[in-house]
Amino acid sequence: MALLKLKDIGKIYVSEGNVAVGIRGVNLSFDRGEFVAVTGKSGSGKSTLLNVISGMDSYEEGELFIEGQTTSHYLQPDWENYRQQYISFIFQDYNIIESFTVLQNVELALMHIADPRQRRRRAMELIERVGLKAHVRHKGSRLSGGQKQRTVIARALAKDSPIILADEPTGNLDSATSKEIIDLLQEVSRDKLLIMVTHNFDQVEHCATRHVRIYDGAVEADTVIAQPRKPEGAPAPQVEKKTSAVKNGITLGLSIFKSRPRLSIFLCLLMLVGNLGIFFMTSAVSEAGSLFEDTTMFTPYEGRVVITKQNGEVISQEELTDLTSKIGATSNLHYDLLLDQGRYSSYFDGFFVRLEYTNVNSFSESDMIGRFPEAADEVFLSLPLGCQTYFGKDEILIDTITLERLPFRVVGIHYFIDNNQLGQVLFHPDGFRIATAAYSLLNSSNLNVNVEVKVPDSNRNMTFSFRDVYPFFNMPERSVYIASKEYDEAIRELKRKDPNVTPVTEIGLSASFHRYDNYGVSSSKSHSWVIPADYLTDKDPGTPAGSNRFMSYTDTMVDIDIAYTEIYDSYLAISADYLLELGEEFLAMSYRQASLFFADDKVAENAIEELRSLGYIAVISSEVYTPDPMETILDTLEALMMAFLWVTAIVFIAFFINLCSSRSLSAFKGDMAIMRSMGIPVKVIRIGMYVRMLLSLIPAYLLVTALSVYIFHTPHLNAQFSYLYPWQHALIFLGMLLLTARVTHKQIKKLFHQSVKKALKGGAEA
Ligand code: ADP
Ligand code: MG
Repeated sequence: MALLKLKDIGKIYVSEGNVAVGIRGVNLSFDRGEFVAVTGKSGSGKSTLLNVISGMDSYEEGELFIEGQTTSHYLQPDWENYRQQYISFIFQDYNIIESFTVLQNVELALMHIADPRQRRRRAMELIERVGLKAHVRHKGSRLSGGQKQRTVIARALAKDSPIILADEPTGNLDSATSKEIIDLLQEVSRDKLLIMVTHNFDQVEHCATRHVRIYDGAVEADTVIAQPRKPEGAPAPQVEKKTSAVKNGITLGLSIFKSRPRLSIFLCLLMLVGNLGIFFMTSAVSEAGSLFEDTTMFTPYEGRVVITKQNGEVISQEELTDLTSKIGATSNLHYDLLLDQGRYSSYFDGFFVRLEYTNVNSFSESDMIGRFPEAADEVFLSLPLGCQTYFGKDEILIDTITLERLPFRVVGIHYFIDNNQLGQVLFHPDGFRIATAAYSLLNSSNLNVNVEVKVPDSNRNMTFSFRDVYPFFNMPERSVYIASKEYDEAIRELKRKDPNVTPVTEIGLSASFHRYDNYGVSSSKSHSWVIPADYLTDKDPGTPAGSNRFMSYTDTMVDIDIAYTEIYDSYLAISADYLLELGEEFLAMSYRQASLFFADDKVAENAIEELRSLGYIAVISSEVYTPDPMETILDTLEALMMAFLWVTAIVFIAFFINLCSSRSLSAFKGDMAIMRSMGIPVKVIRIGMYVRMLLSLIPAYLLVTALSVYIFHTPHLNAQFSYLYPWQHALIFLGMLLLTARVTHKQIKKLFHQSVKKALKGGAEA
């Protein structure tokens, strides 16, 4: 049985309405050991014959038998298989992969050897055999024509296929090199079928065993001129070593990636742009995700129940204490308004910290520095990691913070990861009460402080208005201190006129407010106090501990010197305990709400019914309230808008990457065609392409990850970008992966939709 048999083979080219005969009625039969020289005029159909034999071009008529098997029913994948198993092709214009080294080019054809070391050894052997030992590491683009053709021969040998087809392999070489190449070819193909097209029969006459002449697409003559060559020893049986396409694809992808550094860098940059786009979009949109989060009316604490009386009366402390023991609550908080208001202090240099009170210690000793508050003027901070730069990593760098105009000492800090979460300030219970008093009184919309100086036995009164009140921990109990140039000068003036005069100083303080509480009940109250003259102290409270600055009522830091002299030329300092007294008195008139704390929400749940029967409206703090329909609709619309924006951005990025990468593709078309002509399985090439894209994605992804770590450790930046959780990063990665897969898929489709022959032509042009 013949190795290869052509029976009435015909190939017709149809292009733009013209029909050209490639070959017609060709009947030929070939076997191992033959060296067939094919000659004929230009355009007579020699190349067509080889292309049909190689399966790179289809035939329309007749039948091609390979080892007795018919092939007319073959589909593309069958031809790929066929080429892989039987054919090595040597072209006039070499068709080696220019960006690959000699070694890589040869190894490409050795994919059937699974062991990489064995593969390397075999490649070196073959390269030595074709005399290219000195050029192993040279890129194809640096080789001379003869060297290129030697590489191709080594590659053909590497494949160890029974058929070698050569289409004018020496057409571009000088005669001396041509002779070398022909001798080499004939020597290495002794046990194979070698079919060589040539326009110079003289060159091969001495070694060819058969001469086929083509004329006008048909066989004109077929002459045996010598005995088929005897293989040296038995032909090595083709060992079908099953190598994994995945492994080979990965190797190929790596080679492709490395062999075109500039293109690879370009792809990396492209991926980076895409990845950054998705990253920032996701970051921006993830804030919109909070729209779907449950809304609670109160700041939820485990076991917290907020109560108010059904009849709208104010709850007294006694009543609350009674209720606490009656209902079995663990503790209570009468004035809990800070809990739900939260206060944002902007002086943390870009960070917003919410004042919170918690009776639950959810911080373990291992991830905190310092300790919990033990005195009224101490606080513990729970801050986003980004604050570490300011507040200290291993030791506390900032010792005092001002909250509600009160200087608190920072005695402990804990850091958490999500920079977009608000920080927490944990108070000592006494400190929290004082802060609450300061909050309700000093932030009252209408706080007036007037100091009146009365001169005994005279009708002369002097009144000074004070703009600011500052509470201090370190003042004597129940004391106030007046800081005012004008006041000082007035007293001095009086004394100068009459050294014996004792001016009586009366301090009047009034506050009023208008408030809607959480249950929607509005209250409006005013209250005034007269602070006895003997509360006035000479003891300057000084500056808040550890700083020479304090908060002005406009919420900016003011140097103490400036406060005395310029705009803030007058203020009244009040001892913290006294402020608490006044503040609670103020609240007692109108504040109708209180919090009870139970062991947990379950226990709290059981107490609700009883509280209701006792005349209270009671709500568990973690209970979700239903916003009004309009609010829901608007939130949903906004969220949909964001989702739409996100998708639009992704589509845009995909489009962009697709456009740029397909522009870079033309360079690959040729290489891919060469690989296909070598019979490298499409699957391997496909995987190689995916691997190459993946490789260009990985640096981009690493960079974006590094960037996100940087952002999230950098103050100012981390407040701008939403923190992304690992699963969101995974999502971005998945998004990029899908995007890459899609782009690669399209590219591959483009690469493989044409026949190898066409692709080779296109590749040669590129
Ligand atoms: P040779 O290799 O002997 O010079 P070819 O096999 O390349 O000749 O061409 C044989 C004939 O087929 C020529 O008439 C040529 O014009 C035609 N032919 C070859 N390839 C194509 C093609 N892709 N489209 C149309 N006609 C073609
Ligand atoms: Mg030709």
